[in-house]
Amino acid sequence: MSGLNKFLSSCKGAYDTVQHFLKTLGVPHPHREIFRVHPYITSNPQLRAQTQAQVTASLAHIKNSITRHGLEHIALSYNGGKDCLLMLVLVMAALHELYSKTVSIPHDYTLDSIFINSEELFPELLDFIKSSNEHYNANPIVIRSNLKQGFERYFNEINHSAKCIIVGVRSSDPYSSGLATEQYTDPDWPRFIRIHPILDWNYAQVWEFLIGCNLDYCSLYDEGYTSLGGTSNTIRNPFLKIEGTEDRYSPAYMLQDDADARERAGRLKK
Ligand code: FAD
Ligand code: MG
Repeated sequence: MSGLNKFLSSCKGAYDTVQHFLKTLGVPHPHREIFRVHPYITSNPQLRAQTQAQVTASLAHIKNSITRHGLEHIALSYNGGKDCLLMLVLVMAALHELYSKTVSIPHDYTLDSIFINSEELFPELLDFIKSSNEHYNANPIVIRSNLKQGFERYFNEINHSAKCIIVGVRSSDPYSSGLATEQYTDPDWPRFIRIHPILDWNYAQVWEFLIGCNLDYCSLYDEGYTSLGGTSNTIRNPFLKIEGTEDRYSPAYMLQDDADARERAGRLKK
């Protein structure tokens, strides 16, 4: 199979996964060991319905952005975290919807998945970035730099036709409550359009989607990490510590009370 055909087949897979999620009412029982020890409790049809509505809205937004800006001008920022994994799957499902009927996709097209790396990272996260890019047939671009300079290099040296980057930021992230679904970068950043398709998702909805779709995610989340940064500033979330144990934590999806505020409790100030 050619590179493009492999990619399109991954888009079809993502589309089928998302459609299944949209049509079903509850979480199936994923076969991973962790769910036997820590069952994912959601007999919560309201959460499922809210998450389905988020999926529908995000898909419409992504399709609209791709149609307006042009597929070849768009890339993803992908750091292997739960939010951009959700975003990657939605982008691929949207691509399938847009391109399964018409064939106007260049034969050498690749979806750039940009990871800008400036910190010492957990090996599990590095492994997941690699394996998930392979699984979804995205084109990994790794730039060793800080975020701003990294994107400058991407636009100036790596992809001259790119104009927009899709970002998995959510409104509850620091300094993100005022973001629009699409906007230019701030004046002190290289100038390009940011697309924010999952801005309104909350923590519980992200996990409802990842688990409801039975997606593979970075294994650190099963060890009690809820927000992944570098090794020097990331610890497991204290709110997930299992009482009466010295060093045992529940998985990230068990964080339920006040989850959006507590999600970053394992991220230390730099
Ligand atoms: P996360 O929740 O892990 O990140 C949120 C999302 O940012 C991820 O889902 C992913 O899509 C992306 N991302 C984060 N880290 C990386 C990385 N190392 N490599 C690739 N993608 C990553 N801040 C401003 O103040 N003004 C701006 O104009 C601005 N423009 C940005 C444009 C882009 C394309 C990106 C990725 C970030 C930009 N930021 C900007 C910074 C942004 O607001 C967050 O501070 C930053 O994404 C880190 O997010 P987080 O710590 O919340 O981590
Ligand atoms: Mg995040």
